[in-house]
Amino acid sequence: MARRNLASGAGIWPKIYREGLLEGTFCPKRYGISSASVDAWRSHFMLQLLEPVGHVDEPSQHPMDDRQTVKVILRTNDGLEIESVLIPMSKGRNTLCLSTQVGCRLACQFCETGKIGLLRNLTVEEIVGQVVVAQAKLGWPINNLVFMGMGEPLDNVENLVQALRVLTDPRGLSFGQARITVCTSGIPTGLSTLAKLRFRRMGLSFSLNAATDAKRDLIMPINRRYRLKEVQDALQAYPKRDGFVLALNYCLLPGVNDDPSDAQAVAAFAKPLGRTLVNVIPYNPGTHPLTRAPRQDEVDGFVTQLKDEGLAVRVRQTKGRSVMAACGQLGNLELKKIRRNNHLDRLTVL
Ligand code: SF4
Repeated sequence: MARRNLASGAGIWPKIYREGLLEGTFCPKRYGISSASVDAWRSHFMLQLLEPVGHVDEPSQHPMDDRQTVKVILRTNDGLEIESVLIPMSKGRNTLCLSTQVGCRLACQFCETGKIGLLRNLTVEEIVGQVVVAQAKLGWPINNLVFMGMGEPLDNVENLVQALRVLTDPRGLSFGQARITVCTSGIPTGLSTLAKLRFRRMGLSFSLNAATDAKRDLIMPINRRYRLKEVQDALQAYPKRDGFVLALNYCLLPGVNDDPSDAQAVAAFAKPLGRTLVNVIPYNPGTHPLTRAPRQDEVDGFVTQLKDEGLAVRVRQTKGRSVMAACGQLGNLELKKIRRNNHLDRLTVL
């Protein structure tokens, strides 16, 4: 039986994607689905969700909001572990930060995942499965999705694109494009593949972190492969809807990228890109810190410099730092050992 008939005709697709059903003791009659349809489905497919094997919670710092930031560790069928993070946002909304790879080969110097190296890409099922597990198994109410967990999404762009199709399918998870953001370190070929999806309402953010090649080379090895001008051209060519705002993420590293000349370089980089919003993310030191976390006065000072350059700026509140679930802190030591023992890909330059 064709996948389409199984999915849409019998109403199985919503049961899988909204409720994570069809596992174990699923009773078709209870859900108005014929046993024959379910049996046919089971003869073709197996539903095996990622297994939550642990979580760490960071208590809320907000006096009026007791929701926690939660990092959940999920085990894949081949015994590897990935992480997704539930991030409470304003107005009672929640964002789920998703992984696209086990580890990452881009080796950004400020990032814990980058220290692991790449073990493998996540499959489409594993990318989507993080959302299904979060909603159906953990009972988390998810409003928005951001691809900012382990891995570089555009280094696994084919699977990312198919996962986006599934995540937005109205019969299932039905996430609106505007509720999804893909964050990339800038792989021009990946950007042009993503552009072909023509998800014009989807958010896009670029991890800039330094706006001169000389400085970016030092903290993001990917910059030696794709120079800033090439990435800037790809971002300019990316199809945008009216009112589109490109987010430029800037991990603030005291003594590394917080000079007034850095703010000027950010402004020069942003100028041809239309509307932008600079997200200043105070550095979260990991196990082998590149530098210390910036003080509040340093964050404020750099924000003022950016604003003086005419840029729109927002400081992203650091959530999950105490449980290693904040930006750039995902990764675990076991994965590093596996990668080392198997001589897997720890890339310097793509
Ligand atoms: S910041 Fe992103 S792209 Fe860079 S090493 Fe970490 S996970 Fe990979």
